[in-house]
Parts: sequence; C-alpha cells; structure tokens
Amino acid sequence: MKLNINDTFNKELPSDPELSNERRQVAQATHSYVEPVVPTHPKLIHFSNEMVEAIGLTEEEAKSKEFLEIFSGSKIYPQTRPYAMAYAGHQFGNWAGQLGDGRAINLFEVKHNKKRWSLQLKGSGETPYSRQGDGLAVLRSSIREYLCSEAMHHLGVPTTRALSLMLSGDDVLRDILYDGNPAYEKGAIVCRVAPSFIRFGNFELFAARNDTKNLKKLTDYTIKHFYPHLDGATKETYIKFFKEVADRTLEMVVHWQRVGFVHGVMNTDNMSILGLTIDYGPYGWLEGFDFGWTPNTTDKQNKRYRFGNQPNIGLWNLLQLANALFPLVEDAEPFEKLLNAYGSNFEKQSLEMMHSKLGLKIVSEENGKLFADLEENLVATETDMTIFFRLLSNLKKGQPDKSLETVAKAFYNPNEINSEIEERWKVWFKAYDLKLQEENDKDDTRKASMNAVNPKYVLRNYMAQLAIDKADMGDYELIDELFNLLKRPYDEQPENEKWFAKRPEWARHKVGCSMLSCSS
Ligand code: AMP
Ligand code: MG
Repeated sequence: MKLNINDTFNKELPSDPELSNERRQVAQATHSYVEPVVPTHPKLIHFSNEMVEAIGLTEEEAKSKEFLEIFSGSKIYPQTRPYAMAYAGHQFGNWAGQLGDGRAINLFEVKHNKKRWSLQLKGSGETPYSRQGDGLAVLRSSIREYLCSEAMHHLGVPTTRALSLMLSGDDVLRDILYDGNPAYEKGAIVCRVAPSFIRFGNFELFAARNDTKNLKKLTDYTIKHFYPHLDGATKETYIKFFKEVADRTLEMVVHWQRVGFVHGVMNTDNMSILGLTIDYGPYGWLEGFDFGWTPNTTDKQNKRYRFGNQPNIGLWNLLQLANALFPLVEDAEPFEKLLNAYGSNFEKQSLEMMHSKLGLKIVSEENGKLFADLEENLVATETDMTIFFRLLSNLKKGQPDKSLETVAKAFYNPNEINSEIEERWKVWFKAYDLKLQEENDKDDTRKASMNAVNPKYVLRNYMAQLAIDKADMGDYELIDELFNLLKRPYDEQPENEKWFAKRPEWARHKVGCSMLSCSS
C-alpha cells in the first residue's frame, strides 16, 4: 500500500516540544505529536470506495491487512508523525479557552491527482487536549458521522469526508443521557478526510494569547495551501481571506437550510476554515418542518443551534473569527463591512435557494411573501420537509385544486388539517400556480430542476438508528444499504421507495432518533 505522503501542517508549523499526552495547556504550537492507541481487535466495517480512490488506493488495498492496521491506528505509516491540533473556541456562546483535538489524531497528508487530503482518526485515544475525556468514540456516533458525512457530499453540501469505519474491539463507557446511568458500548474509529481540519478555533487560540507571531504563521500557512490565489502576506490579503471564509461559511449554511440539516453544535471549534460541514455529533435532519427544532438535548433550553438560527450563528461565529484575525489587520472597518454584507448576502442567497426549491426561474424579491406564507403553512401542522418539497415537483400547472392531494403524503396527521388550514393551503397553491403560469418551463422541465435540489432521500435520524441497532448486533448490511442509497439522494430509486417515508411513530421520542447528546 503506497501512499503519496505530503505532510505540510506538521512540517511547516511549530510543534509542541513536549511529547507526553498528559493533559495540559500548550503554548506557541499548532499541534502536539501523539500516537494513536493500538486497538485490541480492530475490524473493518465499511470503507468509502470514492475516498479510497481519492487518496490513491484501490479497493483491493482497502481490504488489506495494512489498510486495517494504518486506519485503525494499530501501525504508523512509515515516515509520518501523527499529531493532535491545538485550538480553542466559543462553546454555546461562551469563551471556552483551549480545546484541541481531544479524540482526533491526524495521521498524515496525502497528495493525489493534484488534491491534498489530510487523514484523521476519530476515536484513537488520548491527547494533551482530551481534558476529562478518554479520546475514544463509540460505534453509534461513528456510524452517524461515517454515513452522514458521505451523504452530505452526495447532496452537494461542502463537508469533510470519511474513508473508513472500524470497530476497535474495545468497550467504551458512556452516559448517553447524562443521567448517571453509564453503560459500556462498542468502540469504533472513523478515518475522516478533508483538505484540512483547521477550524476558526485554531486562530482564536493564538489571538486569545496575544501570540500574533503564530497567528500570522497559521494564517499564512492556511492561505498558502488552501487559498493560494490570494497571495502576499499583506493586510489586504487577510481581509480577502476573511471574505472568502465568510462566503464559504454562508454558502454551507444555505445548503443546510436547503436540505434540512441541523448541525446541532455550531461552536467555533466546529467551524471549518474551508467552509466544510465538520464534526458530526448530535446533528439531525428536519422531519416536520420547524425553524425551532434542534436535535441536541444539551441545547434544549436555549435552542441556540436550532434550524432557523443557523444562519445567525454562522455570522456570530464569523465575528469571532474576525476578532481573532484583527491583530493581523488592526483595522475593524473592513471586517465590519464584510460582516454587514453577510446579512444581505444571506437574504439574497436564501431567496435564490427558495426559488430553486419551488422551481421558479424568475427571481424576484416579491416572492418573499409566497415563501413566508408557505413556511407558515408548513408549520401549521406537522409536515415532512423532504417529502413535501419532493412531491411538490409533481404539481401540474393550472391545477391548483389537485395540489394538496399531490403532497398529502407529507402530512404526519392528516386529521390536523382542518377546514381553515385547508383553505390556507388552497390559497397558497393558487398563488403558487399563478407564479408557475408566468414561467416558460413545462411541467417536466420544472420537475427535473426541482428534483435536482430537493433530495428524495436523506439520512433520517431513525434510519441511522436502525443501522446502529443492527450493527450493535454485528449486522452491518444496513450500513452498506444506506451508504449506497445516499450516494444518489436526488435519484428516484423506486426500489428504495421504503426510505421515502415519514419517520415512524416509534421513533418520535426515541433516544438517538429525536434526542441526541454530545456524549459520543
Ligand atoms: P465536540 O463537541 O465533539 O466538538 O467536542 C468539543 C471538545 O471536546 C473538543 O476539543 C473535543 O476534542 C473534546 N472531546 C469530545 N469528546 C471527547 C472524548 N471522548 N475524549 C476526549 N476529548 C473529547
Ligand atoms: Mg468538535
């Protein structure tokens, strides 16, 4: 198994001279060298054939003993030096100080087909940043990250990827509900992959310590490798860099809103500097359309990270990044301008996104009313977001009276649709039909364009849970089935129609399906 190793992060940036993994504050370093813990009995559960190829391996090699050893952390690839990154962050709106890779260990960077990939094991044991944690991950959360990160990629959402999912063979103690009932669960290791895992928090760490020298080193490094079209270490470059991060962050959040993804823990340590969805923890998929929904039980009180608040939090997090980069520019105005622009850019992109979801080509601000009315109707009774938008593409121009029937499957409890709500829907479908009449597109053309942005299949919370329950019993077939299903989320796949269904009632209040904690 030959990989084209091309390390830059640990070669070009300052490392922590201390080599023990004792918990500590690490100063003036971007990373600490650590070795993954050797798992007792590692077993490969699944690999992503696309990512195997992306890093220059074959499927044959992915089934080899060496692959198992390297990506379970049993062996270190020759001439590489694994490390944990140092970062800080704001958690739930509060400054949390140093955090860092507490249960992630970067193995190496690979260059293949002109692309750089950083490979990182999640759940490979303690690091200086593990704080009270054990550095391990359980099977349940590893399956969730593995399936969802690949699914998000196929939905066209910027995201970190996953290479492999392994069982460690070791048991891990977790208190899922934080209610004093810890239990042993199977341990697992995901190898995740991204051009870089640098987060907003990496910059915040140096800024908080007034370490402008290393802040500059890290920023110059990030620009050199990941924003290479911005050249020169000047103030203008840093501003342009911030602008691009802001644009990418916004783009990512708009995608989340489009597909109904709720991240759940948008702390600044979970914000990628490349605008990738990162750190799949207590995330969830909207079933009933609801701006107030959050899957994260840890956030039940304030619902800071609820669906409808994600765009605002993106902005709040960018403000923290701007504060962190400020010492490199020493002028607040350009940052303020860009942060102000975020608001109007969001309005514009969100409007465009809604037009695309409704198959409207003529973009007009006036349609804002149509969208607001739609959202009001969607929340009037429990309505499945994915099913609603997918079925909406089946409407025929000039037949608004038949529309409610066309989307009927999206309503959780049809009895809830009383005559008043029915009337509201009729009014809305009439207004929508008038818009459709103004467009040139034939029904079929509109349907195709809508189906390219409204997925038919997403990783509903209960689907991941079914795969987890089976995997707990040693049956991994459903992982493979869902993995393949979610490779083509926009395709009809009539053979998979059973997954185009509302969440079953048993899953409504089940742990893992509607309630998730950070305990992973
Ligand atoms: P998260 O909420 O998953 O983004 O994690 C926040 C911080 O806690 C990060 O610094 C993680 O590395 C750390 N962390 C989370 N779980 C563990 C664990 N089991 N062991 C060690 N550190 C952890
Ligand atoms: Mg994190």
